[in-house]
Amino acid sequence: MAKGAGHECLARLDVWADGVSAGLPSDAAEPLVATHLRGCRDGAEDAQGLLALIADDRTTSD
Ligand SMILES: [Zn+2]
Repeated sequence: MAKGAGHECLARLDVWADGVSAGLPSDAAEPLVATHLRGCRDGAEDAQGLLALIADDRTTSD
């Protein structure tokens, strides 16, 4: 579970992570999330963790 509530901009973090993992630039994937991540260290850590999960999912699902 994500620690620390209150990151309302990150409600769309899954959308952002899907876009980024598909090769989109961060700002194109989900501008609100990209902006939030620039100023939020906890959010950025969550984002990196989610990207890692997605990458892991893709490499192990075959
Ligand atoms: Zn945040």
